[in-house]
Amino acid sequence: MVTVVKAMTQALYLEDSYLRECDGTVVSVKEGKYVVLNQTIFYPKGGGQPWDIGKIVKDNETYSVVYVRKFSGEISHEVDHAGLKEGDKVHCVLDWQRRYRLMRSHTAAHVFASLLCTYTGALVTGNQLEEDKIRFDFSLEKFDPETLTEYIDKANKLFRKDIQVRWYELPREEALKIPGVIKMAEAFPPDIPRLRIVEVVGIDRQADGGTHVNNLKEVGQIRALKTENKGKHNRRVYFALT
Ligand SMILES: [Zn+2]
Repeated sequence: MVTVVKAMTQALYLEDSYLRECDGTVVSVKEGKYVVLNQTIFYPKGGGQPWDIGKIVKDNETYSVVYVRKFSGEISHEVDHAGLKEGDKVHCVLDWQRRYRLMRSHTAAHVFASLLCTYTGALVTGNQLEEDKIRFDFSLEKFDPETLTEYIDKANKLFRKDIQVRWYELPREEALKIPGVIKMAEAFPPDIPRLRIVEVVGIDRQADGGTHVNNLKEVGQIRALKTENKGKHNRRVYFALT
């Protein structure tokens, strides 16, 4: 059982990120288009990962899910038109192509951050996944396009290996003893007693509520896009899945 999410909605994407469809029951509807379900496969915006899109189907009516976010601890699905009501039995279908790309790039981000921090001592100050690229902000005096390419190459070597990615929960105090476990901050809610740890075996462990692939081979390869200087020590890089 996942105990990370205390809200009424069971976050199935945390237990199994590969679920593309699920059944559910409508728990509440606000303003006709903000729908809360008893369980969901839709990832809400947060932790540097964009929200999922897809559809909720009730009988023969299809409602497009255009935005998903956490609102007062609940996972709220914004649908494109009104009609759903409390107690409705529905079927959820993810836009899997988009989600799977995000899972691959999210996992790539872990590996890139881990290499960068391990080899340069940089502090990650921000990261944002987009559908077509990954952005990283970090604090480091010197970083140029050649160095970015070097780290992309290092990461790509790892993406050719059979390396498992797994998750488990740890008591908060125990989790916080792991060096660098909150490298990508804001990726987990504060004040929860147990943290969900995502481990790229032998490479990185992060407190993390996002979705990832199960093996580094699934990431494929990444390519450098660009580097930017944002002040004296702040560096920004972009890379993307090939
Ligand atoms: Zn993650």
